[in-house]
Amino acid sequence: MSLEEERIAELLRKHDLKATPQRIAVMRVLLNGGHYTGEQIYNEVKKREPSISLSTVYNALEALENSGLVRSFEFMGVTWYEARLEPHVNVICVDSPERKIVDVDINVSSIMEALSSKGFVVKNLSLVAIAECNKSNNLSS
Ligand SMILES: [Zn+2]
Repeated sequence: MSLEEERIAELLRKHDLKATPQRIAVMRVLLNGGHYTGEQIYNEVKKREPSISLSTVYNALEALENSGLVRSFEFMGVTWYEARLEPHVNVICVDSPERKIVDVDINVSSIMEALSSKGFVVKNLSLVAIAECNKSNNLSS
């Protein structure tokens, strides 16, 4: 195992997950940053683990998400996964041909406070905005 894989294995164990090679491989892709569909992760993982199946990738994603290491959101029937855990808005740029997804940091404390004042215990806040992005100066990521 490489040092990077050792670190990921340790991270998984800290979250009470068995550090299987499949989970490590999936997490490794997500830790590169950005947003991925299950198939994109599968195609990346397959380069190193040719015997892995798509359903194994989805099982690994489910375990990682349940333990809070990965988040997901949906757009037009496609589920996107990411390892970025801080609350942020996933802005989907409908004016870019590849439907670029940009992370935008905003302060979500007012949303959290409003929900908790109504008695909700928020486990996960997923914010997705559909936007035209070409006039934004916030496209650095
Ligand atoms: Zn994001």
